[in-house]
Amino acid sequence: MKEILTGGLAALNLDTAAAETLERYGQLLIEKNQSMNLTAITEPAQVARLHMLDCAALLGCADFAGSKVLDVGTGAGFPGMVLKCLEPSISLTLLDSLNKRIEWLREIAPQLEVEDLTALHGRAEEFGLMAEHREQYDIVTSRAVADLRLLCELCLPFVKVGGHFLAMKGPGAQEEKESAGRCVSILGGRFRKDFVYQIPGTDTSHRVVMIEKIAPTPAKYPRRFNKMKKFPL
Ligand code: SAM
Repeated sequence: MKEILTGGLAALNLDTAAAETLERYGQLLIEKNQSMNLTAITEPAQVARLHMLDCAALLGCADFAGSKVLDVGTGAGFPGMVLKCLEPSISLTLLDSLNKRIEWLREIAPQLEVEDLTALHGRAEEFGLMAEHREQYDIVTSRAVADLRLLCELCLPFVKVGGHFLAMKGPGAQEEKESAGRCVSILGGRFRKDFVYQIPGTDTSHRVVMIEKIAPTPAKYPRRFNKMKKFPL
C-alpha cells in the first residue's frame, strides 16, 4: 500500500510524507471492516487507490489550508479524514447519521495523530438548521451520499457565503448537474467549473462538481428528508 500511496501522492503533486499515515489508516479500515461494515473495497491496493488517492485528489481543486471544512455523510472518513491527514491545518468536522462509524473515527483519530477534528453523529438536514453549523464552513465536501439535487439541499446550508461545496461524483455527474441548476440557484449557489481528475494508477476519471455560495440559503431549507426526496428542488 505504501508504494502505491507514495507514487500516487507524487503524481498528484502532494506531499508524500503522509503516505505512512494513509497506509496506517487503510490498515485500520481493513481490520475494522471484518467486524463492522465500513467499505465494500477491501483489497489493500484498491483501498489505496479508490479511497485514499481518490480523496487526496480533491486537494487539487481548492485551497484547503487553514480552512474550516465539513464532510457530510463521511462514512469511514472519506474524503474528510484523508484531507486532514494531508493538510493538518484544516479545522475538520465529520458528520454521519451512523453512530458506529462516527465512534470509530473518534477512536482512530489519535492513532493517526490527527488533531482539531470533531466527529458528529446526526443527520445533515437537522444539523443544517442549527445556528452553530449553518453557514459556518468555508468548504463542505461529500462523496457517494445522494443525488446532486438532494445533496445540495443537505450541504449548501452549511456553506458560508463566499465558500464552496465540493461534490465528488462519478461518470453520471453531468446528467445530475443538468437537473440541479434550479435547485443550486434557489439554495444560494452558483456552479463553478468542474474539476476532473484521473485516480493515479487507474484509468478511472472522477469529477468534482464545484458550487460557490453567493447568497444565504433561504431559512426554509433544508426541509425534512422525506419531503426533499419526494419533492426535490
Ligand atoms: N462518504 C463516504 C465514502 O465516500 O466512502 C461514505 C459514503 S456512504 C455510501 C454514505 C454515508 O452517508 C453513510 O455513512 C450514511 O450513513 C451517510 N448519510 C446518508 N444520508 C445522510 C444524512 N442525511 N445525514 C448524514 N449522513 C448521511
